[in-house]
Amino acid sequence: MYNQKAYHLGSNRSCIRELFEYGCRRAEIVGRENVYDYSLGNPSVPAPREVDETIRRILEDTDSVQIHGYTSAVGDLSARKAISDDLNRRYNAGVKPENLFITCGAAPGLTAVFRALAVENAEILAVAPFFPEYRPFAEAAGLIFKVVPPDEPDFQIQLTELEKMLNPNTAAIILNSPNNPSGVVYTRKTLEALAELLRKKEQEFGHPIYLVSDEPYRELSYGVEVPFLPCIYPNTVVCYSYSKSLSLPGERIGYVYVPETAADSKALYAAVAGSARIAGHVCAPSMWQKVIARCTHLRPDLEAYDRNRRRLYDALTSYGYEMAKPDGAFYLFIKAPGADAAAFSEKAKKKDLLVVPGDDFGCPGYFRICYCVTPEMIEKSLPIFEELLKE
Ligand code: PLP
Repeated sequence: MYNQKAYHLGSNRSCIRELFEYGCRRAEIVGRENVYDYSLGNPSVPAPREVDETIRRILEDTDSVQIHGYTSAVGDLSARKAISDDLNRRYNAGVKPENLFITCGAAPGLTAVFRALAVENAEILAVAPFFPEYRPFAEAAGLIFKVVPPDEPDFQIQLTELEKMLNPNTAAIILNSPNNPSGVVYTRKTLEALAELLRKKEQEFGHPIYLVSDEPYRELSYGVEVPFLPCIYPNTVVCYSYSKSLSLPGERIGYVYVPETAADSKALYAAVAGSARIAGHVCAPSMWQKVIARCTHLRPDLEAYDRNRRRLYDALTSYGYEMAKPDGAFYLFIKAPGADAAAFSEKAKKKDLLVVPGDDFGCPGYFRICYCVTPEMIEKSLPIFEELLKE
């Protein structure tokens, strides 16, 4: 006997993974250079050189038992202090080390926060388009998962629709900006209007409505402001990750921040810690906590992503493709010609162009491309995009 839900999740690969695996198989047949794989969001810019140098220095100047030993479950104080100093420097946010819980990336942070919020009948709203893993994370935590319809064509937030969905069971809203898959950054105006609406509804319902801010792409923006949500709406819990900001997705390091000014802050923090504990969290990787303690000042080199973004956006819009302005992350979310994104993706696949249909992101009719790729691949793939549109 085994759990059927877990079996289902484990035996059905995500559409993104399916495409990526397909691309690997095709590469063996036609050659890697002839497969135009825009499926997976794996950073193509290497981690800053200082990260590797820091590891070397840690190996030289730190006792080996200390490097590899367990840390406190909430994370090394030195790492939490470095993160809070960095956030305070940038946002004047009043962060203290005891408000931070170091995690193995954003995904385990999200599952811990979801579980911490899962009282009976509690609902969480996700704004489409959204990262597909939110649904299984939320449902496994015991939350009822609901989707706020997309705000086309700009992919900000449809506040009137969201307002209709708010009810006394609404525990939280999960937001992700810069957004995967749209590349859109929610504007300060959007976020302030959302905060005002939530404050009104909190008064009406007599309990907090938390924003869960999923921020793996916080540092990946191209000339626009990415507002720090806790400074706009104190009942925000931040789930951060270094996977994309320092190109460390395989190392598994990030944090949860529960602001001191959030409602029931200390209890919520304890519930996050407890939820992590029952999911088997012992501590985040000790070595990587030490690296973060010395590297919070580093930012990604965005030049290559920005070049790809501009080239693709300019070329594809000039052919007639439609998309929201991609001001952040490393994705474009494009209206599928013919409005059937799955059919478009299949057609593209026949030409070894791999793009992800938007259905799993809560947004059928669009497809996502991830531009963590080489400029050569982009140039070779552009005529195929043009051809597909003409067809
Ligand atoms: N949230 C979003 C929106 C993502 O795109 C990803 C990864 O791609 C994650 C969370 C998970 O990130 P992590 O590697 O930190 O677990």
